[in-house]
Amino acid sequence: MDTTLELIKNSKYCIAYTGAGISVESGVPPFRGKEGLGRKYDSNLFELSYFTKYPERSWPIIREIFLNHYFNNAQPNTAHLALARMEKAGILKTVITQNIDNLHQVAGSKNVYEFHGHSHTLICLECATRFNIDEVDLNVVVPCCKECNGLLRPNFIFFGEEIPEQAASQSFSEAIRSDVILIIGTSGEGELGSNIPYEAKRNGSVIIEVNPIETTYTKTITDIFLQGKATEIVSKIEKYLIPFKQNLI
Ligand code: NAD
Repeated sequence: MDTTLELIKNSKYCIAYTGAGISVESGVPPFRGKEGLGRKYDSNLFELSYFTKYPERSWPIIREIFLNHYFNNAQPNTAHLALARMEKAGILKTVITQNIDNLHQVAGSKNVYEFHGHSHTLICLECATRFNIDEVDLNVVVPCCKECNGLLRPNFIFFGEEIPEQAASQSFSEAIRSDVILIIGTSGEGELGSNIPYEAKRNGSVIIEVNPIETTYTKTITDIFLQGKATEIVSKIEKYLIPFKQNLI
């Protein structure tokens, strides 16, 4: 921990890269693992081709998982809040997240790149009009576009879909620019997104990883592995660094 604090304190461009694990303590299950959404639900549900072919089967489950049950009731936890305060204090420059739950923004983070989109808007597959989820009656199966009656899809990416170009290019340039990257709560088993820390490493960034268990990063590129829950570890980092930064002002 002491080395971590020194590295962040002396960094010029520290960023965070977060995954489902940071939101676990907000009550949102991760994707992988025993309690993961990937085990509980049929994996077809996360494929765009299945969604477009069987929207009447997919919609009620998607609504249950992403729009109502877990995500809408969740509040940012102390790890989300600590990252937001670290950004405000100038210690952290950016959060790149694979999460689609909006909890970094609710916590107050401003520079957030949502690599996999988000769950608070829907988009028409025909005319690309966007709607906030509170503008749409989610109890109607299947919700359709008010403009053209096309099928509405959530604005996060399904398996196998390409990462939106802007989010991908911005996230990779942030990774290249960073000199320290905090990887928090991700297994690293996703598709393109999992390359971000590797890109940071190739460009000389120090890799600090926070996770209760070892991951594919731990075995390959991690320089410092802080084993534990996001809330405990990130709060400790913040508790030390913010007073330090404030003493400098
Ligand atoms: P993952 O499910 O593959 O891995 C979660 C990681 O978090 C694991 O390594 C686990 O050990 C770790 N973890 C569990 N509890 C933790 C805690 N308290 N503190 C810190 N780490 C903890 O998640 P992923 O790598 O982000 O990939 C999942 C994909 O599914 C992403 O693409 C994401 O878009 C999507 N997803 C998002 C959410 C969300 O938005 N909250 C939730 C589930 C899935």
